Amino acid sequence: MTTYDVSLLEGDGIGPELSECVYSILVNIHDKSSNLKFNISRVEAGDNAKLKYNKPLPDETFNEIKNSQACLKSPVGESAADVVLVLRRYFNLYANVRPSKNYPNIPSFSKDVDLITVRENTEDLYLGWEFYSDDDTVISLRKISREASKRIAEHAFKIADSREGKKVTIVHKSNVLRLSDRLFIDTSREVAKEYPNIEFEQMYIDACAMELIRNPNRFDTILTTNLFGDIISDEAAQITGSIGLAPAANIGKDFAMFEPVHGAAFDIAGKNVANPTSFILALKMMFDWLGEKYKDNNLTVQSNKIEKAVDDLFIKNVKTIDIGGKLSTKEFSKRFINLLTDIGYD
Ligand code: ATP
Repeated sequence: MTTYDVSLLEGDGIGPELSECVYSILVNIHDKSSNLKFNISRVEAGDNAKLKYNKPLPDETFNEIKNSQACLKSPVGESAADVVLVLRRYFNLYANVRPSKNYPNIPSFSKDVDLITVRENTEDLYLGWEFYSDDDTVISLRKISREASKRIAEHAFKIADSREGKKVTIVHKSNVLRLSDRLFIDTSREVAKEYPNIEFEQMYIDACAMELIRNPNRFDTILTTNLFGDIISDEAAQITGSIGLAPAANIGKDFAMFEPVHGAAFDIAGKNVANPTSFILALKMMFDWLGEKYKDNNLTVQSNKIEKAVDDLFIKNVKTIDIGGKLSTKEFSKRFINLLTDIGYD
């Protein structure tokens, strides 16, 4: 039996409902003969924590996350930047990885899409370097470095190498951002030379936004900078079905954080209608990452079971309301856990 320390950040809006689902899955996986145990530290962060402790990321939460091997993060509301950006920066979570694929029986604009966006997560306009140059003018600075570009390109090519598509599309705007995006492209090209088995193409961000709608099947692995990646991964999520199905991983050298792509969705909070699949698939990504890091095949087994359980439930039209089903968050979670931990499912 191997034990993993996992921090579970509860968040705001629909965050606590999604957390409850993922918490129950982890507890149930442990109860069945998986050879896995999870020490789950449930911590508060976000708007609710700010009201209670005057800090969106209380010290106790930060310490619990630091003491864990990986973090599962629910969506956070208005204080998202004070939580997510701080954690990304502290743990140097340089790769933001967002898979988007079609699932059975999910109404969508596309068919058989299976792509992954690999977004640089530490630079670009997200450093927030802005200032007034006079009373009516703001200047925003964009940082792109060779080191961070190389690191994210290596990450993207490694991912592409593990996938069937064996293709990387680098997305940029080098006709306007002539120095920064040229550096990003040239660095990626150098990395591409180490992977002669992988097809490599370049595309402007505006063309990519269009192609994602016109012909999403042409993409396999998209490599891009921070802001472009933020926007096109939401587009890719919507094309393949619903933002309620989209997970994201923030990966560093020694630590990683897994979360749904969407925000706190206050409009549906507390109504028991949120789709927990995004967070369930984020949990799958955590199992993949921990499984590779600690060479633990039991985690890979659980990851594959999650993928199969999602497919099987959707095939049977067991779905939440946002994707054309009838089930509440709690009902869907229960059906999912029953299927995942069903002894016959092994
Ligand atoms: P942010 O600005 O941080 O992206 P937001 O609340 O404005 O957050 P999202 O939460 O990303 O926007 O999502 C937009 C809408 O999509 C929500 O208002 C909600 O109606 C729907 N939505 C998002 N996540 C889910 C989910 N898990 N299940 C069902 N519907 C969802």
